[in-house]
Amino acid sequence: MTRRMYYDDSYATRFSAVVVERLAVDGRPAVILDQTYFYPASGGQPADTGWINNVPVLDVFAREGDAAVVHVLANDMPEDAATCRIDWERRFDHMQHHTGQHILTQAFVQVAGANTVGFHLSPDSVTIDLDKINISAEAVEQVEELANRVVWENRPVTARLVKADETDRIRMRKMPGHLLTDGLRVIEVADFDLTACGGTHVACTGEIGIIKVLKLERRGDKTRVEFRCGGRALRDYRQKNAAVGAAVAALTCGVEEIEGAILALQEDVRGLTRSLKAAGGQLIAYEAERLLGETVETNGIRIVKRNFERREPLELKHLAMQLVEAPGVIALLGTSGEKAHLVFARSADLPHDMNALIRQAFAQLGAGRGGGQPALAQGGGVPADSTQIQAALSAVEQSILNS
Ligand SMILES: [Zn+2]
Repeated sequence: MTRRMYYDDSYATRFSAVVVERLAVDGRPAVILDQTYFYPASGGQPADTGWINNVPVLDVFAREGDAAVVHVLANDMPEDAATCRIDWERRFDHMQHHTGQHILTQAFVQVAGANTVGFHLSPDSVTIDLDKINISAEAVEQVEELANRVVWENRPVTARLVKADETDRIRMRKMPGHLLTDGLRVIEVADFDLTACGGTHVACTGEIGIIKVLKLERRGDKTRVEFRCGGRALRDYRQKNAAVGAAVAALTCGVEEIEGAILALQEDVRGLTRSLKAAGGQLIAYEAERLLGETVETNGIRIVKRNFERREPLELKHLAMQLVEAPGVIALLGTSGEKAHLVFARSADLPHDMNALIRQAFAQLGAGRGGGQPALAQGGGVPADSTQIQAALSAVEQSILNS
């Protein structure tokens, strides 16, 4: 079995080793070393990446069965003498978050009586799942206060092996189902937290920098807590500070006034929308009146037949409905373009079937879908230019006059 050197030293990033086995993983070359500082993905913590003889290490995992640590490489690496380097930035980010997770988990136990039942760490998100719901905002603040106090007190974080007969005497937060033969690895945040863990941790809590909870989200009977530590918390703060700065500049207000300013803006928009709708209704009424004034009555029916360039289907419908409020009116309206649209409507005192007429128009235009009621039908979707629409409307007008 590979000697896992990171158990004793999380900070070593350069080391030498010897290749003891070569294999292929999903078509890529992979090696097993006699010893390694590369962390294989497990316990919610992703694998380290880095380089072996300058060949990128893409993934590291423990092989099922013998738990040998497999290093998956980007390319072939023929030498048996391996000079290894771990991507420190990535490793340190994992150390900050993994140790931060131990502290945050213990803080949730002490403040809210909530136990951590899951941990997830990826480049985009860091979360723990708690076995409790409805945790108040005040409790979360207390958790943050406690967790960050432990960070600022810069307490030592130590790892040691505990023998099977010792486990009854120590109070641990999490006890695994079975013990490894050589004992159980426990991580202690001095006078605060003791738990079994195989991950990589910082030596002193101050290195975590800060622990910040971003949000709580209910997941069934559990709560998912998203948080950030150290460098990621700084980047998150930087990004949010820039966003707040932009909002403050756009709203010309202070930071504490942003929410009020946005609510006021939303109220303004609602008022303007109401006014615009009312004004639009009045315009449609004037337009309908004008169109009716221009229409000659034939056989007791006034047929308003009109094509518009690129008009909103909803506006077309409102105009048609306004037109047929007067008795004895049939409105045959269309808008040409990439997605032509037709709206046919008739007054309540007329017998004509708009559904049948709109199908006739679509048959002439070649395609398109639509329908509705005998008094009001609409549809479209096919490209048609002004001439084509005019021709279809004229044909419909003729069938009405001939009926
Ligand atoms: Zn850990």
